[in-house]
Amino acid sequence: MAIATEEQMVVDKVAKKLYIGGEWRDASGGATLEVIDPATEEPLCEIADGTPEDAMAALDAAVETQREWGATPPNDRAGILWKAFEALMERADELALLMTLEMGKPVAESKAEIVYAADFFRWFSGEALRIDGNYKQFANGTSRVLVMKQPVGPSLMITPWNFPMAMGTRKVGPAIAAGCTIVMKPAQQTPLSMLALGQILEDAGLPGGVFNILTTSSSSKTTGPLIQDPRLRKLSFTGSTEVGRKLIEASAQNVLRTSMELGGNAPFLIFEDADLDAAVEGALLAKMRNIGEACTAANRFHVSEPVREEFQRRLGERMGALKVGRGTEEDVKVGPLIDQPSREKVAELVQDALDKGAARVVGGEIPDGRGYFYPPTVLGGVPDDARVLHEEIFGPVAPVTTFESEEDAIARANDTEYGLVAYVFTRDIKRAIRVCEGLETGMVGLNQGMVSNAGAPFGGVKQSGIGREGGKEGLEEFLETKYVAVNL
Ligand code: NAP
Repeated sequence: MAIATEEQMVVDKVAKKLYIGGEWRDASGGATLEVIDPATEEPLCEIADGTPEDAMAALDAAVETQREWGATPPNDRAGILWKAFEALMERADELALLMTLEMGKPVAESKAEIVYAADFFRWFSGEALRIDGNYKQFANGTSRVLVMKQPVGPSLMITPWNFPMAMGTRKVGPAIAAGCTIVMKPAQQTPLSMLALGQILEDAGLPGGVFNILTTSSSSKTTGPLIQDPRLRKLSFTGSTEVGRKLIEASAQNVLRTSMELGGNAPFLIFEDADLDAAVEGALLAKMRNIGEACTAANRFHVSEPVREEFQRRLGERMGALKVGRGTEEDVKVGPLIDQPSREKVAELVQDALDKGAARVVGGEIPDGRGYFYPPTVLGGVPDDARVLHEEIFGPVAPVTTFESEEDAIARANDTEYGLVAYVFTRDIKRAIRVCEGLETGMVGLNQGMVSNAGAPFGGVKQSGIGREGGKEGLEEFLETKYVAVNL
């Protein structure tokens, strides 16, 4: 199926090469990899398939540029981020279309991601001006404590396909603000958004070598040698817990600074005193944003028995009414999943729950035809041993179960190795605070189905990660603290 002219134009506009040392170049050896539209299963274009040699060239460029870039005045770094923020906003429509083509979500959601992604540049443009230290007396008055903040240094960033632009700017924004140079490796399934970001930063005046982009089909082979290279100072990763564990292990060799934004298994708790309208709206957002392919996606709904049936019915009606289709089509609210293995995993989790006695409220059948579509699905009465309650679904499936008491709700919520985010719906302020205190997560949505915000510290505890992105905490991840003992 040929793609529409407008779609072809946005794809054509992207440089399909590696960006190293300020130059767009082919992969050494000239290999390319295909980018596929998950709604049609057809190739969109081919891009450079970087090799370990290309990866090393990108690190060389980042290392060579680090000293000069680290000494660039904060005003200049802030100015570049601001210009890039403006360009992202001006070009939001075409960038949204590009993102939908490579990732699948509806264009309106892609546009919301571009705005969210741009917000990190706006936020960190301000933060670049606020890097400070401190000065004080030794407690015994003999000497002085001088504390200064300096850029960590060359940083490797590895990002996933589910938020192709925002997972990049959430790292690149603070790194540029702090004065770090970057080697960025986007997911092979969605490299076009990151390549477009490279062009935007280049146009905004970012010096060559500060931001290097390595697209590749062999992520482990190309990034492995960089992680072992003592010139690399930082690894910032967003992706699955499984890969995160491997990267933490590899990072131990050179005791690399690491930031890990990993998987989730978010519980969504609804107490009997909740505003049920708000809970249904919150549930739709927490479950269906990004087709359920979000680390923050509500993975399981624990609902107090007196309101469980009504909630389940209303959620089923709302989810069943969402239009499924190619993200470029009008009124579509649910695009395809990213690939066939992802869809198979979702179908397998649903089948396992049904086999163990769950009831199908809506959905659950893979449609015929091209594209990796899976319908919005609600499962009721899901038994405790169903895999869907314990594994990250990454699809539009809402398993509903219940709890007996506040303590039981907290215990069920915490019964997972993950600890990224939880959602709590209650109108009782005392209960709200008690439950928030008891949850073992890095974030809580309290009567709210979405937590993402550029000015807030995003991140998880337990096996959902290490470190925070966004907020003033996000900048700290790219700064080192140096203490000077001053003898006057
Ligand atoms: P993934 O398989 O872990 O891949 C993430 C990135 O790591 C991709 O760029 C991938 O490259 C690369 N990669 C895979 N194996 C690697 C290895 N051995 N060495 C170096 N790089 C490697 O995750 P995904 O399927 O793309 O993303 C979904 C996961 O991300 C979910 O678990 C989700 O919860 C998590 N996530 C977390 C957050 C958060 O903020 N906590 C945000 C978004 C997503 P290739 O794909 O090109 O091989």
